[in-house]
Amino acid sequence: MSETASELAFKARELDAGDELAGVRARFVLDEAVYLDGNSLGALPAAVPGRVEDVVRRQWGELRIRSWEESGWWTAPERIGDRIAPLIGAATGQIVVGDSTSVNVFKALVGAVRLARLAGGEARDEIVVDATTFPTDGYIAGSAARMTGCALRPVTPAEVPGALGDRTAAVLLNHVDYRTGRLHDLPGLTAAVHAAGAIAVWDLCHSAGALPVGLDEHGVDLAVGCTYKYLNGGPGSPAYLYVRDELQDRFDSPLPGWNSHADPFGMRPDYTPAAGAPRGRVGTPDILSMLALEAALEVWDGVSIESVRTKSLALTDLFLECVAQYVPAGRVESLTPVPHAERGSQVALRCADAGQVMERLIEQGVVGDFRHPDVLRFGFTPLYVGFADVERAAGVLAGILRGGGG
Ligand SMILES: *Cc1c(COP(=O)(O)O)cnc(C)c1O
Repeated sequence: MSETASELAFKARELDAGDELAGVRARFVLDEAVYLDGNSLGALPAAVPGRVEDVVRRQWGELRIRSWEESGWWTAPERIGDRIAPLIGAATGQIVVGDSTSVNVFKALVGAVRLARLAGGEARDEIVVDATTFPTDGYIAGSAARMTGCALRPVTPAEVPGALGDRTAAVLLNHVDYRTGRLHDLPGLTAAVHAAGAIAVWDLCHSAGALPVGLDEHGVDLAVGCTYKYLNGGPGSPAYLYVRDELQDRFDSPLPGWNSHADPFGMRPDYTPAAGAPRGRVGTPDILSMLALEAALEVWDGVSIESVRTKSLALTDLFLECVAQYVPAGRVESLTPVPHAERGSQVALRCADAGQVMERLIEQGVVGDFRHPDVLRFGFTPLYVGFADVERAAGVLAGILRGGGG
């Protein structure tokens, strides 16, 4: 081991020794691998298997239909929404859990255009969307634009302020870019959208559970996000929709279902939307996934999102430092912003043979992912990733990139 390598290994051990979140790792089921893919699928919280077993065998198997009431199935979408709320800076009563992120992007964006037009903006006929967005958001924005008679304007987040105007109805943005890990200026962009009289919709998939969002504080109108990344809800766990409380009465969902009716069991032919967060529901919630998510959220007991953010930045700083020291110069190019104010909880490194490099990394126990065409992506989940893990991962990466097999 070279001198710098042993120095960095020492530094990592010191950081682990002072890590107030170190004990949280025991709340997860993990193995020897360094798991840096929690931004794609969070690890399994240890409480989940037992809960799912109880939900299936007792709540479903024994109580059967009674569980809608007695096991709290019916109210789960709002109850779990309220559990997510403090993690993203929302007061209770504004978040409903259910459906996929894709479906919630649709509800939010069409709802946003309708809200913008209600507020005296009948002429507003443009949807601005992040041109670098995760594909599903772009596809859905395109469809929402066609349905609402809007033109779609894809622009980079930096170009958003210049693209806004009297014609802007709604703006769909990502808090953190899924590819580069860049954190966008949610307060500033939301204020710019409002100054133009438009509605701001934020996708929090890569920020919720990784850093403070401050939805209420920054006046965000609508937001969506998934729960299987930094919220560890499990594969396909339901997403959530946030509708700011003062907009709830006017929110007109493009997917009104019987679950969002004011009187769902009245079975009426005419639709009257429910008040509050339930208005964002559609049909019967996916209870098994929903209650697995509820158990998963218990890992947050006693954990503040601020402490998670502090550790996240220290983890990505250390990883970037180790990569700079260990990896042969010029072999990778970091796409990760250096300023903390612009960095999410991941590091993205560009290298021409990224696909093969990631295969070798995974073989050697360092699990990140590859994003087409040339990006190595490493997600840092402070709840279960430690500093020695990070130093080790950089060492293995450097070995592969040196061609030595690490
Ligand atoms: C992960 C992610 C999604 C996923 O959408 P699903 O409907 O859950 O498949 C959507 N948007 C962004 C920005 C994401 O990062």
